[in-house]
Amino acid sequence: ATDALSSDANAEIRLEGVTKRFGELVAVDELELTIRDGEFLVLLGPSGCGKSTTLRMIAGLETPSGGRISIGGEDVTETLPQRRELSMVFQSYALYPHKSVRGNLAFPLAKMDVENVDERIHRTAELLEIDDLLDQKPGQLSGGQRQRVALGRTIVREPRAFLMDEPLSNLDAKLRVQTRSELRRLQQQLGTTTVYVTHDQEEAMSLADRIAVMNNGELQQVGTPKEVYEQPANEFVAGFLGEPPMNFFAPECVVADEPALANAATLGIRPEDVRVAGSAGEPRSGGPAVEERRADGGDPRTIELEGEAVVVEPLGNAYEIEFDCGGDSVTARFRQRPEGIDPGTTATLRFPAAALHRFDEHGEVIDR
Ligand code: ATP
Repeated sequence: ATDALSSDANAEIRLEGVTKRFGELVAVDELELTIRDGEFLVLLGPSGCGKSTTLRMIAGLETPSGGRISIGGEDVTETLPQRRELSMVFQSYALYPHKSVRGNLAFPLAKMDVENVDERIHRTAELLEIDDLLDQKPGQLSGGQRQRVALGRTIVREPRAFLMDEPLSNLDAKLRVQTRSELRRLQQQLGTTTVYVTHDQEEAMSLADRIAVMNNGELQQVGTPKEVYEQPANEFVAGFLGEPPMNFFAPECVVADEPALANAATLGIRPEDVRVAGSAGEPRSGGPAVEERRADGGDPRTIELEGEAVVVEPLGNAYEIEFDCGGDSVTARFRQRPEGIDPGTTATLRFPAAALHRFDEHGEVIDR
């Protein structure tokens, strides 16, 4: 154990061709993923995609059926969990009700060969701003304070990496958001490599340095939140990130003949990039992301679709309107309600070609 709260040792986690089979089922399929030293990496994907199994293999709680896992350059594929010096955080944050905060923080250190227990407890308590609560019992604390003590129990061990499996899912909405930013701050301060599993895209977006998107046991894409959102590698990633999700439609829906679209099997456009032609809310260009792409030499043209408004939904700070475009449904999101659009109204929808995502018949993106 070191004296500093964050360890100096390189804690890059590398998965090479990692596979996990349960009988016939391939839960994780030939995973190639490097989690950089000090990085906050989020494993994101729908239920059953293999996120937890991947995390459990890193922890050593499951043995891979194939492939290799290393931490800081050291092969740990066969290493016992307790020898990996990792700290796993689960959904429930149980504290010992009869122990003080100090006792709760000391407990994880009891089995370790640590000399400076008091010093570590104080450092952790200071970091979490619970140093004046050390003699209180959990029953005397607020929900948020208890949450911090629970986090403190993980931090006090000073592991090489934190492994977290949906640690916030049992909290109410307000505490979840609060604890989320707390987690982010702590991780940045400590610089400890963190692998975090969730199916919640908003959580992933707000926490991650990089997001690894999984589906059916396979890695779909790894990138910063901005990259996976703005440049999805395939239809799955494009449709999984974003609320409301990206619209997918056939190239035949496009009004004018666009030779550039001819080789695409499916087109995609984000609801926030769709505008109604001639309405007050129509900006001259797309959003900042689109502007950036245009500046990069992206397609300067405008694409149009004809659609009939089906549902107009006021959301308080925005309006969502669903259009029927020749059988494909296209939802548009507006800050202000476009004038004269009611259910049954036919309108021309418009967006910059630079905002369009094109996919081939396998759902893979066609590069711009
Ligand atoms: P969730 O968000 O629902 O936890 P997940 O993405 O974490 O999903 P995993 O828990 O990794 O998914 O499961 C991946 C697949 O492996 C699932 O089909 C699951 O049923 C299966 N699986 C996981 N653990 C076992 C096990 N011990 N025995 C058999 N099948 C398992």
